[in-house]
Parts: sequence; structure tokens; C-alpha cells
Amino acid sequence: MHLNQGRLEEILKGLGVARVIEKEEFSRLVRNALGVKELNVDEIPYRIREDYSRFSRKRTVFFRYRKEGYLEEKLDNMDVLGEGLIRTSWMLHNIHMMRSWRARRAKIEAYDKDLLTKVIKRASLFYGADLVGVAPYDERWAYAEFDPPFKVRYVVVLGFEMDIGANRDDIILSAEVGLNYSRMSITALLVSEFIRSLGYNALPQGNEGSLTIPFAVLAGLGEVGRMGLLITPEFGARVRLAKVLTDAPLVPDRPISFGLWDKCMNCNLCADACPAGAIPYGPPSWESRAGQIGVLKWSIDPVRCYEYWRKIGHSCAKCIYACPYSRTLWDMYRIEARQKALRKITGGV
Ligand code: SF4
Ligand code: SF4
Repeated sequence: MHLNQGRLEEILKGLGVARVIEKEEFSRLVRNALGVKELNVDEIPYRIREDYSRFSRKRTVFFRYRKEGYLEEKLDNMDVLGEGLIRTSWMLHNIHMMRSWRARRAKIEAYDKDLLTKVIKRASLFYGADLVGVAPYDERWAYAEFDPPFKVRYVVVLGFEMDIGANRDDIILSAEVGLNYSRMSITALLVSEFIRSLGYNALPQGNEGSLTIPFAVLAGLGEVGRMGLLITPEFGARVRLAKVLTDAPLVPDRPISFGLWDKCMNCNLCADACPAGAIPYGPPSWESRAGQIGVLKWSIDPVRCYEYWRKIGHSCAKCIYACPYSRTLWDMYRIEARQKALRKITGGV
């Protein structure tokens, strides 16, 4: 059975609702303004040595501290409003783990992979992502313990914007983090369900299974800077990431550059803003304070960072909001993108 070409085109057009067009236009305008270039994989500035080996999930700070309870479970000393806001925001995170990854029917072939990819990317924006890209699956980035239940070919990487105003109050910021984990979980689940309904296997994941940032880089969502997080052209570091592993025949995106690596060489704003001293000064290094071997990059100290979170009783995002790329650089493009989307929907263009 084959996917009908004409129907794919109709659905692609139909998925262009106002919020989807707005997100696509916003990305296009921002990337043009920032002079974003597409790279080949070997042009990505961080380097990987021959002795690189897969990172163990057991070395992640959340795994190391799991016996002492996650932060959302450590809210006993907080006032009732703060506790309520934070607990509520995390309510749906991990909901994606409840479903199967198996294709829901026999595979439906697509003659046009490019068109199928466009439909899946638009569906991702429709179901709630703010950014989407496709990366080839590279098992080097999977945790050493992770064995995918099927032969994964691509990773659909989903980005979710954290609100620019959320850092004015520590409790609201913590609730914003939780809310985005819930959004990640819901959207990743919906996107995987959609792919499964086309006859392909699809496994939704948040932070589990693999490192997510390398896949986000391969999918062209952004670059990695001094603070170790993904920095996107659209929202800077104010993004959370989820992913869907699949064997659907997709067309991958390319990595991008807007000069972040060079900028970080001469900018220490995130390191200056970190109350835990967890972000390094100086050039990138092969030494990893997280225990990763064989990658040249800036490496934050996750224990210092998490110890600070435990001290304050909730998460922190001071580095995220200190980065110049995270500020509202693009207000006028938001307005332009919104206007363009509305004109398109109402038949003005
Ligand atoms: S989250 Fe806070 S403590 Fe952790 S690296 Fe960023 S600024 Fe430092
Ligand atoms: S604050 Fe400066 S050094 Fe840190 S990631 Fe952003 S641009 Fe790079």
C-alpha cells in the first residue's frame, strides 16, 4: 500500500493552520536575519576523538541523585502556592512512556520522502512543538545501556520555547520548566502516535535513551555553546527538547551555524551568572567534568549545578536567561510572522 501523493499534499496544506505558519515564518525570518548557514556534519565545531565511547546513563546527575528523590518531590518546605504551581506543572511529564512504539498497521510506502518529512514536521508543530528538525540516528549518542527495540533510522527532534518572562520569579521559573517537560511529553507522544498510524515504528523520548543535544545539533535546531545547552537562533537557550526515534523513511536536516562557537570564546555571561561556579571560563577542553570521554567542548560541572538546585529546593535557569541569544531579539519578527499567518488563513496572501 502506498501513501497517496495528492492526499499527502492536501494534508500538508491543511496542517498549515495559523499557529503552524506563524512558527515556520518566525524561524525563517530569524534565521535570515542571523545569517544562519547550513553545515556538513564534519564542520560542526565540537570534535570527537577516536576513543569516544557511549556515555552511561548512570553517570548523569539525575541518576546519581535518584535515591534522594527528584526535585519535584522535595517541595515540603515551600509555601502552598509555590508547591501547587510546581507540582501541577510536572503532572504530565513522562506520560509518553505509557504507550507502545510499534507500528499500528502494515507499512504504508511513501513515494516522496521529502513530502512525508514535511507532513511529519508540520504535524509536530501542529501538536505543540515550537521547533522541529530531523537527524540521522547515530548510536554514539545513545546511552551505553540503551538498546532500541527496532532499527532506528531517524530522530525527529522537538523544541519547546520557555517563556521569556518566566525568570522574574524563581517559583514561576521552576513551574515553567515543569510545564515544558509536560508539553514535551504530550507532543512527543502525539507525534509518535501519528508516525505509528502510518505504519512505522516510533518511540517517544524525553531525556531518556540518549543524549538529546547532539541529535538537536544534527537536526539543525541550534549550536552548543559555553553553558553546554543547545542555543537556537529563535529562542537562544530558552528551549526544552524531546525526540521521537523512528524507522520512517525521512529526509534529515543539516546542522547549522550562526557563529556561536566564536561568540562564546569571547563571552562569559553565562559563567558570570552561574551562582554555583559550574560553567567553565576559557577555551573548550577535552576534559569533561560530567565524565564524558573524547569530546572537545565546554563542559559544565553537573554536580555543582545540581547541588545548587538542591540547596534552593528547585531548578535554576540563570545561565539560560543570561545568554544574549535568549533575550527578545526578534519581537518585530514575531509580529510579522503572526500577521503573515493570519493573512494567509484569511485569504489575504
Ligand atoms: S542552571 Fe543555574 S546552577 Fe546550573 S549551570 Fe545554569 S546557572 Fe549554574
Ligand atoms: S552567555 Fe555567552 S558564552 Fe554563554 S552560551 Fe551565551 S553566548 Fe556563549
